[in-house]
Amino acid sequence: MTASIVRLADRRSFLRHSAALGGVGLLGGCVSAMPRAYGPGFLPPPALAPIRAGPGRIMNITVCLRPFRAAGPRLDAEQVGDKLVVHNYGHGGSGWSLCWGSGQLAVRTAMANGEKDIAVIGCGALGLAAATLALRAGARVTIYAKDWMPDVRSARATGIWSPDSRIALAGSVGPQFPQFWEDMARASFRMHQRYLGLADGPVEWTDRYTLSDEPFKARAPDSMSFARYEGRVHDLTPPVEDVARGAHPFPTPYVRRTSLPMFNITEYGRVLISDFLQASGRLEVMEFHTPAELANLRQKVIINCTGYGARALWKDESIVPVRGQIAWLIPQPDVRYGVYYRGVSTISRRDGMVVQRTGADESYGYNDANEQPDRADAEAAAATIAGLFPRV
Ligand SMILES: Cc1cc2nc3c(=O)[nH]c(=O)nc-3n(C[C@H](O)[C@H](O)[C@H](O)COP(=O)(O)OP(=O)(O)OC[C@H]3O[C@@H](n4cnc5c(N)ncnc54)[C@H](O)[C@@H]3O)c2cc1C
Repeated sequence: MTASIVRLADRRSFLRHSAALGGVGLLGGCVSAMPRAYGPGFLPPPALAPIRAGPGRIMNITVCLRPFRAAGPRLDAEQVGDKLVVHNYGHGGSGWSLCWGSGQLAVRTAMANGEKDIAVIGCGALGLAAATLALRAGARVTIYAKDWMPDVRSARATGIWSPDSRIALAGSVGPQFPQFWEDMARASFRMHQRYLGLADGPVEWTDRYTLSDEPFKARAPDSMSFARYEGRVHDLTPPVEDVARGAHPFPTPYVRRTSLPMFNITEYGRVLISDFLQASGRLEVMEFHTPAELANLRQKVIINCTGYGARALWKDESIVPVRGQIAWLIPQPDVRYGVYYRGVSTISRRDGMVVQRTGADESYGYNDANEQPDRADAEAAAATIAGLFPRV
C-alpha cells in the first residue's frame, strides 16, 4: 500500500469535511483488486465490514445545540452576593474534547483560596469533568443540575476528538487565547487517554476515512472565520494519509485516512457519574431560574457548567446555538471505522452508528435553536452512506 503524508494544512479539511474507517481491505466484496505487496512478513489489511445504513435501521434521531461564543468559552469568575461563581461554559462543538483541560482551569480558580466545599452546577461533559477534578483535588463536591447524563445535551454529541470545533471566531479572541486553548487541549487529551482500556470502552481510538469523487483540494476558508488551532496539537494524532486506489475498498477514487480518539458517550457518562458517586460526590436535582437563587446553596464557591442553559440563566446572549442532528443507526460492533462522504459523517460507536450531516463548513446550523428532529434529513443523510455500500 502506498500512502503519502498530507500537509498539515490539509488535515483540517480532512477532519471537518470527513469521517473515517479503520484498516484497509474489502468492503462486502465491493472491490476485487487488492494491493499485492505489503512488505515481507506483513499480512494484507483486514476486511472492513460494510455499514448498514438503510432507513429501517434508524433507531433514533436527536438534535443538540452547541453553546458557541465568538470570544471562546467563558472561564472568568465573578462574585454573586457572598458566592464566588467560576464560569465554565460555552465550548461550542468542543465540549467533550476540552472538558478536562477547561475543568482544570475552573477548579484551580475555585480552590485557589483553599475552599474545600465546592458546588458544580450542571451534569453534562463540563460539569462531570470539573466535579471529578475537584474531588481529586480533595474537595467535597455536590453537583446540582436540572438534568443528568444521559438527559443532557452532552449526551447528544457526536463523540469525537474535535478540540477546535466552533470554539471561537478568529477575530474575536485575545492574543493569549491560542496558547490558552492549546494548554486546555493537551491537558484534556492526556485525561481522555486515561479512560482507554476499560471494559466497556468509554474512550477508544477509531480510524476515520474521508471519501471523495474528486481530487482533494486545499480547504476553502469558511464563511464565518472560525478559529483554527489544530496545527498546534498535530503531534497528538496520526497524520492524515492519502490511501492509494486499489488499497481501499470504497467506490470513490480518492480516500484519506487518520485515527482519532472517540468517546462512547453513554458509557463515558456512566463511568464518570459512577466514579463520582463512589468517591463520595453528591448529586442533587435542582433548577435555578436566576443567579440570585444561588444564595440558597450551602457552598460559597460554585462552578457554573450550564452549557447552553447559561444563555437563559445568566442572560448571556453571547451564546449562539449551532444546531446539529444525529441519526442513530443500530450499533454495528463489526464496523471499526467511520467515513465522511458528501457532507455526511459516520462514527461507529458502541451505543450506535452516528450519522450526521455536517454541511459545507462550521457555520452549518449557526444560530438555529430548533431542537425538533428532521426525519427526512436523517433519512437523506443515511441514504448518502448507504449508497457507498450497494451490496448491503
Ligand atoms: C450535534 C453535536 C455534536 C457534537 N459533537 C461533539 C464532539 O464530537 N466532540 C466534542 O468535543 N464536542 C461535541 N459537541 C459539543 C458538545 O456536545 C458540547 O460542547 C458539550 O456537550 C457542552 O457540555 P456542557 O456540559 O457545557 O452542557 P450540557 O451538556 O448542556 O450540560 C448542561 C448542564 O447544566 C444543567 N443546567 C442548565 N441550565 C440549568 C439551570 N438553569 N439550572 C440547573 N441546571 C441547569 C443541565 O441540566 C445540564 O446538566 C457536539 C455538539 C453537538 C450539538
